[in-house]
Amino acid sequence: MSKDILSARADFPILTQTVNDLPLVYLDNAATTQKPQSVIDAISHYYSTTNANIHRGNHTLAVQATQAYEGVRKKVASYLNASSPDQIIFTRGTTESVNLVAYSFGQAFVKEGDEIIVSQLEHHSNYVPWELMCQRQGATFRVIPFDENGELNLQDFRELLTDKTRLVAINHVSNSLGTVNPIEEIVRIAHSANVPVLVDGAQAVQHLPHDVQALDADFYAFSGHKMYAPMGVGVLYGKKEWLEKMPPFQSGGEMIDEVTPTRVTFNVLPYKFEAGTPNVADVIGLGAAIDYINQFDFAQLQAYEEDLLTYGLDLLKAIPGLKIYGNPKHRSAILPFNVEGIQHYDLGILLDAKGIAVRTGQHCTQPIMDALQIPGTVRASLALYNTREDLDALAHGIQRVIRLIKR
Ligand code: PMP
Repeated sequence: MSKDILSARADFPILTQTVNDLPLVYLDNAATTQKPQSVIDAISHYYSTTNANIHRGNHTLAVQATQAYEGVRKKVASYLNASSPDQIIFTRGTTESVNLVAYSFGQAFVKEGDEIIVSQLEHHSNYVPWELMCQRQGATFRVIPFDENGELNLQDFRELLTDKTRLVAINHVSNSLGTVNPIEEIVRIAHSANVPVLVDGAQAVQHLPHDVQALDADFYAFSGHKMYAPMGVGVLYGKKEWLEKMPPFQSGGEMIDEVTPTRVTFNVLPYKFEAGTPNVADVIGLGAAIDYINQFDFAQLQAYEEDLLTYGLDLLKAIPGLKIYGNPKHRSAILPFNVEGIQHYDLGILLDAKGIAVRTGQHCTQPIMDALQIPGTVRASLALYNTREDLDALAHGIQRVIRLIKR
């Protein structure tokens, strides 16, 4: 039987804390999620019992650590429904995964006059690496704009796609507006022009179905820390047809096959892209986070979070002077807003005084803020342990701040 979602909160020790003498209401999950006890224990257990450097050792601990690390690769492959664990590369996070592809794919396949397409809804992590790669390779950087609802116009996308396009990089869910992009359709359209697609799944992999084969993504990137795993670990999934042709990103130990003064050959996948000692303990933590999520019925979890989002949006919409940004047909886990007459930063500080953690600012998405012509927003964002009470506290907190400021 699957685990009851309402029991999740008790698994996260940090959530029992008070902040500023009030119970913590944690609504900054798009920045990072909290960790369940099982993840904290898995890391501690690894360091207490198993720690050794992996792959190169033949003593017992090295073998056990290697098995544990490689076991998580299989777990991630299964979580993403990848056809092989060799397609799973461990990185530091989404940012490193995107940079890996931008450097390696760029070097191999992008030349002067080529084009790369991203969207205006991207996090800087899936925008700047492509912009800089275009500068290095002499390619043109193209951006699909979003409309008044915060959605991408697929006709604009079709028009940007040319025989010079080498890659499309798009997030599944915008971290700033919560827009769920029609990613399956975007992949279909790009593939009809023989263009590969990198999907930034940082805000999707923990909330929405995550089947890379069904999606047919060429690359899929995400961060562990936004899905209840530790910071410092992430994943790049790639199709073998691309990964095998791409040169290494970083070089050093592990990624080599033979090394001589005149010639270096490379290790097989995925090791070709994992130079140096990896973050073994946090990979183990990622495995524990996947086990944690897998206890739930994912469809139920998704329905629970969608219900929570609708509940929260309705509460916020009822507050006079509060403006919600974007009105996409499908939104996930993000509530972006401002209150008339109150700076987003001040609202964040005043909510914190009430124990409510939200994020304020640009959320690493200056292109979105520039398009909306605002300096920033307040962003509340959800995870599976949030409840209606958290959103009641947020709405109540905002109303009290409004009363205080407008007195
Ligand atoms: N893409 C999206 C959509 C994100 O939300 C984030 C994190 N806010 C990133 C990329 C970057 O992730 P990280 O900082 O973990 O590398």
